Amino acid sequence: MSYQKDVEKFMLAGEQSINKALDLENDQSRLYMNLITEEYKETLSAYEDGDMIEVADGLADMVWVIMGMCNSCGINFDSVWEEVRASNMSKFIDGKSIKNEHGKIMKPATYFKPNIKKALDIE
Ligand SMILES: [Mg+2]
Repeated sequence: MSYQKDVEKFMLAGEQSINKALDLENDQSRLYMNLITEEYKETLSAYEDGDMIEVADGLADMVWVIMGMCNSCGINFDSVWEEVRASNMSKFIDGKSIKNEHGKIMKPATYFKPNIKKALDIE
């Protein structure tokens, strides 16, 4: 199962394009960026209302339109995710983390940045 493939099928059925690169002239990319904003606002509103069902629906809608954006500009999401996952896991030393006063996990000396260029296969 792949969220990105599911959304690709939806987009092709809806006669939207699956693109290979980011193009600011592409109206479909702009559409998906706007949908991400719209779904985020809906989800935030549901959260502030304490509505668990609408929060779950909104989160799934956010993933859907984010996958639509990836398909609109040639991002292989799984490859990017793997880089970000590895980077985030480098924040732990012997399974332990350092947190700030808000509970955010901080970057220790072992931390390395995600190699997004590699994930996107860009030189
Ligand atoms: Mg929605």
